Amino acid sequence: MKYQPIIGMEVHVELSTNSKMFCGCSADFFGVAPNTHVCPVCLGMPGTLPVINQKAVEYTIMTGLALNCQIQPHNVFARKNYFYPDLPKGYQISQYELPLCLNGYVDIETEESDTPKRIRVRRAHLEEDTGKLTHVNNHSLVDLNRAGVPLLEIVTEADIHSADEAYAYVTKLRQLVRYLGVSSGDMEKGAMRCEVNLSLTDPETGEWGTKVEVKNLNSFRSVRNAIAYEIERQTKVLSKGGTIDQVTMGWDENRAITFLQRTKEGDTGYRYFPEPDLPPLDLDPAWIEEIKTGLPELPDAKMARYTGDFELTQKEALVLVEDRSIAEYYESVVAVAGDAKGVTPKLVSNWVSGELFRLLGESGRNIADVEIKPARLVALIELVNANTINQPAAKKVFGVMFKSGRPPQEIVEELGLQQISDEDQLVSIARQVIADHPDPVEQFKAGKETVINFLVGQIMRVTRGKANPQLAEQALRELLQS
Ligand SMILES: [Zn+2]
Repeated sequence: MKYQPIIGMEVHVELSTNSKMFCGCSADFFGVAPNTHVCPVCLGMPGTLPVINQKAVEYTIMTGLALNCQIQPHNVFARKNYFYPDLPKGYQISQYELPLCLNGYVDIETEESDTPKRIRVRRAHLEEDTGKLTHVNNHSLVDLNRAGVPLLEIVTEADIHSADEAYAYVTKLRQLVRYLGVSSGDMEKGAMRCEVNLSLTDPETGEWGTKVEVKNLNSFRSVRNAIAYEIERQTKVLSKGGTIDQVTMGWDENRAITFLQRTKEGDTGYRYFPEPDLPPLDLDPAWIEEIKTGLPELPDAKMARYTGDFELTQKEALVLVEDRSIAEYYESVVAVAGDAKGVTPKLVSNWVSGELFRLLGESGRNIADVEIKPARLVALIELVNANTINQPAAKKVFGVMFKSGRPPQEIVEELGLQQISDEDQLVSIARQVIADHPDPVEQFKAGKETVINFLVGQIMRVTRGKANPQLAEQALRELLQS
């Protein structure tokens, strides 16, 4: 029997504020010596008082708006009580009944359909991170640099139905937080951490199965693999007439299996109550409005503009909007091109997602370090359009531009790449090529059409790639037919 997977996700996003959620300690702890970014507040010393980090609230509102959530003006922080060695206070300050953001959604692209699929976001709330435990032999080491770093928890409804959809959702989430600049979204560094709630529904009865939680998903790949694995595992159990226990599973990346972590405790175990050390947080609607106005254009809006105004295909637009700085570079080139002769958004898109992506990948460089000024890329495309250089030469010039940022005209002259478009010159070269290759010529005359490519190739070789290929072919055909 084919069961329908019902999946909800909880994603924790570490916000990239300068300081921690409730104290002045630096929140940038990557590569820092353990327990150096700590103070009496985040160490949970008696008598200390937390102060809310305004930037973290602003980042949460930004994300909530990008997730199409309602922003709650009245907020209360709550204590989530539990004991664990990485939690110095013995409780975590979180939000419970009154989260900052409610009832939003994210649209994701799927393979099955051309229209995006909507994943509803139930809530997004602000809390503080815990410290980090490292287990070495029989010892456990604790580093509290991370304790108190602002953390945004985003919870979806159970709208996800496959491993691919879950993958698309977390990818979209990372894209959004990066566009907003509120988090690095780096899963490998723990800046985004996922938990999945998964159950299988019997398609005949429509009954929801028992929910299993999967934790420790620390990469995009593990999100996809763990879900696929768990769907298969539960299907096997159910197919044999077995039952699924309500448990928390972990994901073992090396062995590529889920494993039992613990049987599930309910929310009641946390004894939530309003945080007595913090007053309710009432937000000024004018401030929320101001944040809304300041939001950057988001990927969905860019997609619509690229496929509409710029007439790109869905696929072309998708690779350009993936990264905000790439999209901004692309747009700046399109803006400079304006109505310049034939430098269409499509041509610019070809260069950016073709040669530029290739060279970025090869060099490991970032788009921010690219020295090709938008006007110079436009000039290069114009040189091709004007037949001054051919496509292979243009790629060569682009490669030099990528390294040096120099203007294309200068490079074309220096390397002598001007295309040979002089018909008399091409005809005489074609005549020579025909004389030098009697056998292929015979084959062509006998009807082997593809030999023409070989002969054009010979002209390109003789001219060291500078012949205009269309004109070269034309010259050959005329000579061969006469
Ligand atoms: Zn501190």
